[in-house]
Amino acid sequence: MSIKGSSVNEQIENLVIIGSGPAGYTAAIYAARANLQPLLITGFQAGGIPGGQLMTTTFVENFPGFPDGVMGPELMDLIKAQAIRWGTKTLEADAKSFDLTSKPFKIKADSSEIQTHSLIISTGARANRLSLPKEEMFWSRGISACAICDGATPQFNKEILAVVGGGDSACEEAFYLTKFGSHVHLLVRSDKLRASAAMADRVLNNPLITIHWNTEVIDVEGEEWLKNLKLKNIKTNSQMNLSAKGLFYAIGHTPNTKYFINQLKLDHRGYIVTPPGRPETSIEGVFAAGDVADSEWRQGITAASSGCKAALAAERWLTQNNLAKLIKKENLEPPKSNTTKKIEISNQNNYQQNAIWQKGSYALRRLYHESKIPLLVIFTSTNCGPCHVLKPQIMRVLEDFKGCVQGVEINIEEDQEIAIQAGITGTPTIQLFKNKVLQKQWQGVKQRSEFKNAITEIINSQK
Ligand code: NDP
Repeated sequence: MSIKGSSVNEQIENLVIIGSGPAGYTAAIYAARANLQPLLITGFQAGGIPGGQLMTTTFVENFPGFPDGVMGPELMDLIKAQAIRWGTKTLEADAKSFDLTSKPFKIKADSSEIQTHSLIISTGARANRLSLPKEEMFWSRGISACAICDGATPQFNKEILAVVGGGDSACEEAFYLTKFGSHVHLLVRSDKLRASAAMADRVLNNPLITIHWNTEVIDVEGEEWLKNLKLKNIKTNSQMNLSAKGLFYAIGHTPNTKYFINQLKLDHRGYIVTPPGRPETSIEGVFAAGDVADSEWRQGITAASSGCKAALAAERWLTQNNLAKLIKKENLEPPKSNTTKKIEISNQNNYQQNAIWQKGSYALRRLYHESKIPLLVIFTSTNCGPCHVLKPQIMRVLEDFKGCVQGVEINIEEDQEIAIQAGITGTPTIQLFKNKVLQKQWQGVKQRSEFKNAITEIINSQK
């Protein structure tokens, strides 16, 4: 059976890994070092952002090897660089359908059909929503599922904010938001926190955080922006209003397994079923790693460890079935990874009129007023994981246009004035200008083609 509407790639991969969190990239490191040259399909929008949940976390303080903690996105950048250094191939796309009934397995991604002898599913889990009656109306206008990405937006500055949930994410986000808001309300539906003791203590002892126990959000209100939360005490059934400019969800996750329903054995919550402590699934040659098969531990380190097991199991299975086609590396010792490239903020001394990518308000002012070519402005914040995903994509778009488009990055924490003037409500936001006129705006991670098409349209309209 061929997957409808796709062109078949005749090459059969040894191993395809779906998902780019710690499980997927660790599997890739092991498989690449075993000369299997795995193909890792990163995912794009279907199951959250590439890089997984660590991309929306601040400090990870429990991953071994980082005694002073490491930022989640930075940790993912390092794991990814390690996988690529050893020869992992990556495809930045969502895998859209799977045929696990035939051998080799077939996967449709990015309009082509990929064939593979073995498969590791590490698609993780995505953030849950409350589905409030007016949720859509105030999404990105006060409601957010990522405090780390959106907390620094000017609308939240010195305002009253609220977080829903009682786990580690909720506590971490409430604590993080005290940097920006005047006060943070933590809305917990039961009478206890599920978070680890260390994390819970930070919240319980913080005078800037008030915990509301046994409290549910029943709806939100506002005009252009969120203003009020309608709450209910589930013990007494009494309702109350809470003025808040921000409502951040941290209410757990759902596994990304919709493509595997009726193909693989899943449990009643949708997690892939594997034997305890092992990566095998109900189909031979298909393995699972990370949160997609783990409703209990869900840690970066347990995901990485299960990715390692899945790669070793896949390698063994390929060898036993005489399917492994080993691909020798050109260099026994691959070149060092390039993970430290940092761009300085432009000022009058280092500003370059023709540079394709610069940083900060000085470069933005100069280019906005003086540049005659399209200008892409990307608004980021320091700990925003999606910004980490998007920046290299934007960089590639700019490189492809070979100097016909320029880009500037504005960190909204450092340049709040500019963020206010530009009406930024979350990061990443990307604005495309030509001759001081805003042509298009995007929010969140988007495919490179979206930016390319918009830029091409402007360039063509000038001809
Ligand atoms: P959890 O599943 O641990 O917690 C979810 C929280 O949301 C619970 O308090 C739950 O309430 C509440 N909740 C669920 N649904 C609703 C709803 N509809 N309305 C209101 N409240 C709701 O998820 P987390 O994302 O916090 O953590 C996931 C995993 O990641 C955990 O293992 C955690 O330890 C880990 N983690 C680690 C971090 C770190 O070490 N830095 C940071 C963040 C996460 P109830 O308790 O009543 O079910």
